[in-house]
Amino acid sequence: MRVFLIFAFLQKYNYIGATTMLMPVRCYTCNRVLGHMWKEYKLQRDAGQDAAEIFDFLGIPPKSYCCKRMLISHIETIDTVLGIIPGE
Ligand SMILES: [Zn+2]
Repeated sequence: MRVFLIFAFLQKYNYIGATTMLMPVRCYTCNRVLGHMWKEYKLQRDAGQDAAEIFDFLGIPPKSYCCKRMLISHIETIDTVLGIIPGE
């Protein structure tokens, strides 16, 4: 319950947008900072860009499978958890 209140507060005062999610800040395996890459990754992925090209653009080395896993497997759930539907 406390987590929900914190995110409701952050959204109310525009610290995070309605489409913000809970992307982990760092890779669980190698500890590389990834949190700032999610928005760009999602934009390019939704535009149909090839995943390998996106990772090159973001500067993720080809053999950093752990970091690629973090971006590929992330699912935005914060709006569902909060019961907020953007645009309504
Ligand atoms: Zn990693």
